[in-house]
Amino acid sequence: MTKRRPLVAGNWKMNGSRTESAALLDGIKKGISSTSKAEAAVCPPYVLIPLAAEKLAGSAVAWGGQNLSVHKSGAFTGEISGPMLKDYGCTYVIVGHSERRTLYGENDAMVTEKYGAAQAVGLIPILCVGETLQEREANQTEAVVARQLDAVLSKHGIASFKNAVIAYEPVWAIGTGKTATPQQAQDVHRFIRSRLATKDKTIAESTRILYGGSMKGSNAKELLAQADIDGGLIGGASLQADEFLTICHAAD
Ligand code: PEP
Repeated sequence: MTKRRPLVAGNWKMNGSRTESAALLDGIKKGISSTSKAEAAVCPPYVLIPLAAEKLAGSAVAWGGQNLSVHKSGAFTGEISGPMLKDYGCTYVIVGHSERRTLYGENDAMVTEKYGAAQAVGLIPILCVGETLQEREANQTEAVVARQLDAVLSKHGIASFKNAVIAYEPVWAIGTGKTATPQQAQDVHRFIRSRLATKDKTIAESTRILYGGSMKGSNAKELLAQADIDGGLIGGASLQADEFLTICHAAD
C-alpha cells in the first residue's frame, strides 16, 4: 500500500492584517521542522501571499491560494490567475470551497475548470467536496459527493488525481463548531477513495483526502487516526499558531 504523507492546510479565509499575519507565519514556521512527517501549508488571502512567500521561503511550510481565475491573464477585473499564484511560489490552491460554491455561485462545471486551470500551471488543487445539512438529512451525502467528484473525474480523468488533494468538508461542520464524528468522516472518506478506486486502485490509495469542518487541537487526533483521513483543511483554528501546530503535530 502506498504511504500517504499527511497534509494540514490552513485556510485563513478573509482574515489577518500584515502585522498579525507576520506573527502567525513566524509562529507556524518555528513549530514545523523539515523532518516532520506531516506537511504543513497555509492559504492566506491574496494580498498576504507575498508576505507568506517572504517569510516561509526555505522553510518546511508550503503556501497556496484560496481561489483562482480560470483565465491566465486579461480583462478580468478583480481576479487572480494561476500563473500569478505560481509566480509567488504557491504550491497549492483551494478550489470549490463551499463558501465559493454557496456565496459566489461556483457550480461543479466552474470548479472543474478551476481545477484544470490550477494543474495547467503546476499548482496542486485542493478540491473541496461536501454536503449540506439538508442533503445529509435526506441521505444524499454520497450522491452529492459523487456528483462533485465525478464532474472533475469525467473532465480531467483519474490520472489528474496524482497531482491533486481532496478535502471532504461537510458544509454543516464548517465554521459552526460542529464536527463530523470520526466515524461519519471516515465513512465518507472511504466512499471517496472507493469511488476513485473504481477508476484506478493505485491512484486511489495514494490520493490524500483531508477532512475539514471545525477541526481543532482538541479533536484532531481522533479524526486523523481514521484510516482514510490524511490530514485536515483548517479554517478558524489555523489563525492561531499554537492551535494549528497542535493539529500538525497530531498528524505526525
Ligand atoms: C474551512 O473553511 O475550510 C474550514 C474547515 O473551516 P473551519 O475549520 O473554521 O470549520
